[in-house]
Amino acid sequence: MKIAILSRKRSLYSTTRLIEAAEQRGHEAQVINTLRAYMNIASNRPEIHYNGQILADFDAVIPRIGASVTFYGTALLRQFEMMGVYPLNESVAISRSRDKLRSLQLLARKGIGLPVTGFAHSPDDIQDLLTMVGGAPVVIKLLEGTQGIGVVLAETQKAAESVIEAFLGLKANILVQEYIREAGGADIRCFVIGDKVVAAMKRQAVSGEFRSNLHRGGSASIIKITPEERSTAVRAASIMGLNVAGVDILRSNHGAVVMEVNSSPGLEGIEVATGKDIAGMIIDFIDRNARPHRTRTKGKG
Ligand code: ADP
Ligand code: MG
Repeated sequence: MKIAILSRKRSLYSTTRLIEAAEQRGHEAQVINTLRAYMNIASNRPEIHYNGQILADFDAVIPRIGASVTFYGTALLRQFEMMGVYPLNESVAISRSRDKLRSLQLLARKGIGLPVTGFAHSPDDIQDLLTMVGGAPVVIKLLEGTQGIGVVLAETQKAAESVIEAFLGLKANILVQEYIREAGGADIRCFVIGDKVVAAMKRQAVSGEFRSNLHRGGSASIIKITPEERSTAVRAASIMGLNVAGVDILRSNHGAVVMEVNSSPGLEGIEVATGKDIAGMIIDFIDRNARPHRTRTKGKG
């Protein structure tokens, strides 16, 4: 097979591992710098150009699209889909997962356990919004934040009011969420491929910090998850329409709650923590599933 990997750089851990795993299995892998590819959308034969050449004959595409390039990245992926190339994750599913509010609404509709979450536009309704989610302490999140940036813990009602006011004053879209204190600064990253959790790790925040993101200094260790957590993670990925996802779960007093579903989960943390060949499993999944023109949406939106 010929596999395209959409990525900023081939030297990134996840990208390097995917190339290795593809080559070990006798496939050809080419890294395409997402922002350097350009497209001809007007013709009835959609094309992607790269370094002056037309890209052709790809069987599958692995999107590794950073949050800052979601718009262009998903447009490029859609172009691959229109050309009939099998995407590991579809563009529509990636767009969905990048919007925390939309994701939570989709998960809520299907009965997935979530932290109590509120969303409002007008600063006039802050008091009632806070009451609705159970009062302080609350977690306030920018709708499109990532790597823990834009996630704030407000311990008191007053702190919550002023943070919310400040964000709304800047015209930022935010979620206000019940703080799951009993999680103790830890969450569980479930790595889903197809209909299985293939690996799970616990991420623990550094002392004095409630965000467990590895980018914020959190540390990873191996963990055994319950059958309930396993099925919640698999269902969450499937509701989002993602074949490969990092589903983040908090252990709360009211059971496992899903915090977010990541469509380009990093491989380094999970491979190092569990010793598993996740890149290999991703390539094997593509091997089993890639067929021309096999997308749910065919790039339709
Ligand atoms: P990001 O997309 O920036 O990673 P998250 O929603 O995953 O944003 O939040 C970052 C981290 O903050 C989580 O990994 C978790 O450790 C912590 N966190 C987020 N929401 C809550 C919450 N409602 N209760 C407790 N901890 C939370
Ligand atoms: Mg997160």
